[in-house]
Amino acid sequence: MNNTIDLFSKINLIEPLQRAITATGYTKPTPIQQLAIPHLLEGRDLLGCAQTGTGKTAAFALPILQQLAHGGRRLEPRQARSLILTPTRELAIQIFDSFKNYGRFLRLRYAVVYGGVGQGAQVQAVRGGVDVLIATPGRLLDLIDQRCLSLRNLEIFVLDEADRMLDMGFVNDIRKIIAMLPQQRQNLFFSATMPRDIKQLADSMLTDPVTVEVTPVSSTVELIQQSLMYVERSRKGDLLRHLLKNPKFQRVIVFTRTKHGANRVSENLEKNRISSAAIHGNKSQGARQRALEDFRSGRVRVLVATDIAARGIDIDNISHVINYEIPNIPESYVHRIGRTARAGAEGIAVSFCDAEERAFIRDIEKVIAQPIPVDISQPYHSEDVANSRLMSKGKAKAAIEGGGGGGRSRGGRRGGGRSRRGGRR
Ligand code: AMP
Repeated sequence: MNNTIDLFSKINLIEPLQRAITATGYTKPTPIQQLAIPHLLEGRDLLGCAQTGTGKTAAFALPILQQLAHGGRRLEPRQARSLILTPTRELAIQIFDSFKNYGRFLRLRYAVVYGGVGQGAQVQAVRGGVDVLIATPGRLLDLIDQRCLSLRNLEIFVLDEADRMLDMGFVNDIRKIIAMLPQQRQNLFFSATMPRDIKQLADSMLTDPVTVEVTPVSSTVELIQQSLMYVERSRKGDLLRHLLKNPKFQRVIVFTRTKHGANRVSENLEKNRISSAAIHGNKSQGARQRALEDFRSGRVRVLVATDIAARGIDIDNISHVINYEIPNIPESYVHRIGRTARAGAEGIAVSFCDAEERAFIRDIEKVIAQPIPVDISQPYHSEDVANSRLMSKGKAKAAIEGGGGGGRSRGGRRGGGRSRRGGRR
C-alpha cells in the first residue's frame, strides 16, 4: 500500500470535502479510497472490483464531487452532469445520502430516482437540472422516455454493482442507457465479482481504465464473532432484555428495519430502565446528534437504529451489534456488523431471526460465504422457527427489488422475471 496517502489530508481533495470528511469522523482513507481517488481526480476510467462495505461509495463520490465543483458548468434544465446507476432503491437512497453528506459544503444539486413510488416529486427534483443523479434503471428510462430528463450532457457515469444488475435482468436497460450517453465522458464500473459477461460489459464501456481490486468484505466479517438466534417474533423483546442483563453488552447498537420498529424497541428498553436512544430519518438533525453524543459518551448504553440512519456513524468500541430484525439486503448485514469490528478490533454480532426472516439469512450466508452459527442455548430458542419453511425467495427478492423496476408499464416484464427466479429456488 502506498504510505504517502494514508491520510485524507494527503489526498488532493478540496477544503469543503476535507471538512465534510472530518465532520463525518473519517480519519484514514480505506484501501479502495487510497487506490482510486487520485486516478479519478485525473479523469481516468476505473474498473473497481469491490464489494459494499469497503468504502467504495466515498471512493467515487469524493472525486466526482470535486470534479463537478471545479468544472463549474452551469446546470441546464432536465440535464444530469453525473449519473450513478445502481440496482436497488435501498442502495440508491444510501448513495444519495452519502453524496449529500460528503457534498454538504458544496453548492451542488443532487437527486435520486427509483421505481415503486409516484414520480411527481422526482420529476420536480430533476427539472432544473442536477449535478449528481442516482438512479435505478427502470425509473430512469421511464423519465427519459417521458422527456423529463436527458443524459445528453453527462460528464461522469458510474455503473455500481454491475454483477447484481445483470443478475436482476437489467442488462438491456443498461445497454439502452449507455447508448444515450455522449462519447466524451468518464466511466466508473464497479462489481463485486468479475465473471466473463461482466468483464465484457466493462470492456465495452471503459477506455484505458485503471483497475482497482480490494480485499473482499468477508475478511472483515471474519474478525466478528457472529451468532444466530431463532426466536418467535413476539419474544424478541424478551430476548433482547435477557441479553442486556449481561454487563458485557456495554455499548450496543440494535438494528431494526423500520423507523417505527426503532422507536418501539427503544421505548420498551426505556420502560425497563435500560438507557437507550433511537435514531432514524424522522428525527431532526439535532435529536440525532444528541442521541449520538449520548451514545458516544456512554450516557446511553443502547443505540437503536435503522440502516440508513446508521450510515456514516463512526463510533469506536461498540461491544455488540444486535440485529433485532434481519436486513433484506445482505450487504446491510455486513455494514451493520462491521460497526463492531472497527480498526481491526474483534466484535460480536447477534442476529434475531423469526420464521419469515430465514430467507434473508440464507442470502446473507451466501454473501459472507459462511454459515452463521446458531445459538440454541438461549432461553427463547424456538425449534419451530428453526424448522419453519423458508419464505419463497421470490417474495424476499420482490421486497428487495421494490425500487429496482420501472413504472407500471415496465412492471409486467420484470415481474415475470422475478417469479421465474422465485420458482426455481
Ligand atoms: P461503502 O462500502 O461505501 O458502503 O462504505 C461502508 C461503510 O464504511 C459506510 O458506513 C461508510 O460510512 C464507512 N466509511 C467509508 N469510508 C470510510 C473511512 N475512510 N473511514 C471510516 N469509515 C468509512
